[in-house]
Amino acid sequence: MKITAIEPFIVHLPLTASSISDSTHSITHWGVVGTRIVTSDGLTGYGFTGTHAHLPSDRLITSCISTCYAPLLIGEDANDRTRLWNKLARSPALQWVGRSGITQLALAAVDVALWDIAAKAAGVPLWSYLGGARTDKLEGYNTDIGWLSFDLDTMLDLTRRATEEDGFTRIKIKVGHENPATDIKRLEAVRQRIGSDIRIAVDGNGKWDLPTCRRFCAGAKDLDLFWFEEPTWYDDVSSHAQLARSTEIPIALGEQLYTVDAFRSFIDAEAVAYVQPDVTRLGGITEYIQVADLALANRLPVAPHAGEMSQVHVHLSYWHPASGILEYIPWIKDHFEEPIHVEGGIYRLPQHPGAGTTLLADSLQTFGKSLA
Ligand SMILES: [Mg+2]
Repeated sequence: MKITAIEPFIVHLPLTASSISDSTHSITHWGVVGTRIVTSDGLTGYGFTGTHAHLPSDRLITSCISTCYAPLLIGEDANDRTRLWNKLARSPALQWVGRSGITQLALAAVDVALWDIAAKAAGVPLWSYLGGARTDKLEGYNTDIGWLSFDLDTMLDLTRRATEEDGFTRIKIKVGHENPATDIKRLEAVRQRIGSDIRIAVDGNGKWDLPTCRRFCAGAKDLDLFWFEEPTWYDDVSSHAQLARSTEIPIALGEQLYTVDAFRSFIDAEAVAYVQPDVTRLGGITEYIQVADLALANRLPVAPHAGEMSQVHVHLSYWHPASGILEYIPWIKDHFEEPIHVEGGIYRLPQHPGAGTTLLADSLQTFGKSLA
């Protein structure tokens, strides 16, 4: 099964709300940036990373795929995923300029496309190709109700709908106001509205410094928060470790980490309780499995970040034994051949062959951007 073509794409998909913000990011579209890989057997795999739909930087990713990786892939056997991952990631010239950032995001897209091909060639969904589902009930948690840009009334209304009408028992609320007391007031209102049975996680998106995080944790100690995600700067192992030692609220992180080595640093420092890898930022599924295995060996639960809006992570979470709950953000699901689907707070087990990444031709056409 030879690789015969590499066909990068950039797709900018509108969000379900017109725009959203957290403490750090404000976006109106989600960028689906990646590649199709075509084989001599007539199979096509799809892989992509997730971006802010910023065309200049999206083009750096597709340029890396077409000019740096494609020459290393054409004519190769698509089944040789591990060897090809190493060929790309450990290419001396690319390793010199990469190991994180653009080259890693591009590698993620290529790797996911190769896994998509493998599962399609076997005629089964990825979770089955990997070894079968560990559970029949993968619980989702809803992030799309708690953006920092939502005023309190909107957030309370969306929270009520998600929990009372849609059946979610877990939600995530963004925090990160200048004064953490503002966030605590919002959280108190949510807790009062939905009662004590719903699990509430919070997400700071790396904005606060360590003293502010400590003030927040002290003020929030009676709110029964499930985790505090990305409390402070993404790469700062020491501050996360110090915070973890000083609060009862478990720390979650990983969506901004590019490598298994970075995860090992946080785990070794006891700076993380919920491990949040993302196939779109790590070097794809190949490196995600290394992180999930590392978490398993340390008896830490894995709760992936939805950089691909859970199209791939639903497979990985149904399969990998360290998996726990999975983020739910419904922005782009309707652009896939088999959209993710949550009912009563539970993810449906995918049935289509592949990794869940096959984009609809209409969506590629309508929302596709020029690569140059
Ligand atoms: Mg997050």
